[in-house]
Amino acid sequence: MTEPILPRIRPEIAALPPYRQGKQAGANAFKLSSNENPFEPLPSVLEALTHTTPINRYPDATAGALRARLGEKFGVDADAVHVASGSVSILHQLVLGTSSVGDEVIYAWRSFEAYPSLPLVAGATGIQVPLAPGARHDLDAMADAVTDRTRVIIVCTPNNPIGPIVTSAEFAAFVERVPQDVLIILDEAYAEFVTAPDAVDGLAERVFEKHPNVVVLRTFSKAFGLAGLRVGYAIGHPRVLDAARTTGIPLSVTSAAERAAIASLDAEAELRERVSVIVERRTRLIAGLRAQGWDVPDSQANFVWLPSGERTDEVAAAFDAADLIVRPFSGDGIRISVGEEESLDKVLAVAAAQVRA
Ligand SMILES: *Cc1c(COP(=O)(O)O)cnc(C)c1O
Repeated sequence: MTEPILPRIRPEIAALPPYRQGKQAGANAFKLSSNENPFEPLPSVLEALTHTTPINRYPDATAGALRARLGEKFGVDADAVHVASGSVSILHQLVLGTSSVGDEVIYAWRSFEAYPSLPLVAGATGIQVPLAPGARHDLDAMADAVTDRTRVIIVCTPNNPIGPIVTSAEFAAFVERVPQDVLIILDEAYAEFVTAPDAVDGLAERVFEKHPNVVVLRTFSKAFGLAGLRVGYAIGHPRVLDAARTTGIPLSVTSAAERAAIASLDAEAELRERVSVIVERRTRLIAGLRAQGWDVPDSQANFVWLPSGERTDEVAAAFDAADLIVRPFSGDGIRISVGEEESLDKVLAVAAAQVRA
């Protein structure tokens, strides 16, 4: 059979593998590959889902009720809040709204897997700045990398997939060094899991007020356990967020997602207790792995990083064989989400068998 002639695809897009999701877990497996919340949804959140707008109707395109609620919580106008179907969507919207051919988007590497495709889809150029020792953001090097083509710098804290934070002092010094017309996206997807007192908290410190070029991103996918409903938000200067509102696909946030997010904010105290349980498991997991001899970096998120280096594929296969779905980064290391209580001993047992001094 002859190959059909297909429509032309942009070469830089055709060169990339399409998105492939991590393996879905079998019935007996623990899925520790996507940093999801291991707890069942709260009854009050499920209840809210039954009260959404009838599904034959479009949702409120502005997600007004959720934006008002978040504005109240963080002491900003609803215009300073933007909601989208996951904070990954907001990353795309902001990069599309600021950057085009020849423009540069700076981010640390290794960091979140979604970052490289952001400049690429916009036709812009990604600039990766290597992490400093301890797998920490090298903010000085990132500020040094700014050129007159830089439009966006993304700072991920805690940094997915490794876990260290950026401190308040480091971020404050960095923002002073970055030109005011360059957008800084502070991606705080794991903020709720942070216990380090010196960590930057873009919302508590209201960095977006003093610096209108800073936009803070948060999500309901991780600590709040709504990954399957897709809802995240940004707080920042209304005119900067307008760029995201313009590039975003209208009506992407469903009324079910909006309702569940509001119900989750209503149940925040209960959800915070679950976060404490996950943090306690994280502490145990890191201590256990270090006691085995693994050089695990500090993680302030709901995952830990196993620096398996060249042996990553082999070590990942051992986890797989034990029905533990983890996220390997070939040649580098393995990200393991902090999951169900019963998964901890299993993770530690596999890691112990794989450790090499
Ligand atoms: C999970 C994650 C997000 C948010 O994901 P959404 O589900 O799209 O809200 C954003 N940034 C980082 C670094 C993440 O790990």
